[in-house]
Amino acid sequence: MVRIRGLRKSFGSHVVLDGIDFDVQPSQVVVVIGPSGSGKSTFLRCCNGLEKPEGGSVEICGRPLMQDGRMLPDHDLNALREEVGMVFQSFNLFPHLSVLDNVTLGPRKLRSLSRAEAEVEARALLEKVGLAHKASAMPASLSGGQKQRVAIARALAMKPRVMLFDEPTSALDPELVGEVLQVMKLLASEGMTMMVVTHEMDFAREVGDVVVVMDGGGIIEAGAPDVIFTNPSQERTRSFLQAVL
Ligand code: ATP
Ligand code: MG
Repeated sequence: MVRIRGLRKSFGSHVVLDGIDFDVQPSQVVVVIGPSGSGKSTFLRCCNGLEKPEGGSVEICGRPLMQDGRMLPDHDLNALREEVGMVFQSFNLFPHLSVLDNVTLGPRKLRSLSRAEAEVEARALLEKVGLAHKASAMPASLSGGQKQRVAIARALAMKPRVMLFDEPTSALDPELVGEVLQVMKLLASEGMTMMVVTHEMDFAREVGDVVVVMDGGGIIEAGAPDVIFTNPSQERTRSFLQAVL
């Protein structure tokens, strides 16, 4: 589903990703953990072309997003990006659009749906994330948890094959974290392929199929949650987990 080979990215002389190889299988939930600055966000952003790496390749569903450090031409890149949904820590809703319009905008512009068609789909997605009753609300009137659930519905409206989440609950008050994780759990149970950067270790344990530990620009180990959390092979994983658990 996602195939990453030799992925390299630097900012100036600072090597942030040092030749990463990784595969994500269909319907897999991959949870990425690691200390601040270890390259988790950069790794995720390379997987949908938001970041331009210097080397390596990323393939989504067998199609190259980038090869030998060269990105696809913009037109093709945009088409492929539609297959990769992304949810950020900071929601990034369009503040001047209603919840419904936030969700229908992409499908109307990029999937050429009529307003009516897009609204039928959007209402079903809002139902799924528990926000059918907020369709006509403006983003500013929503709680953080509600905003993030709208952001998830908006990403799903593009019918992505893969969903990327970068610390989707880190900006939320603790009592709002659960409602967002619940929606992510639902997506996972429906077979969505997901890559999730999170500090929610319970989610990683419960929902993750694979936990990837990053440190110093690389993947230091990856494996089943049980193994990573109870018997990691790397001392650096052990000390990271000790600090966060
Ligand atoms: P956090 O847990 O704090 O979100 P992270 O693991 O997501 O950290 P990244 O955001 O990928 O880490 O950053 C990795 C390194 O790259 C950091 O040292 C960061 O300062 C650097 N970096 C990231 N983006 C840029 C940029 N646009 N310009 C320069 N340096 C950057
Ligand atoms: Mg980050």
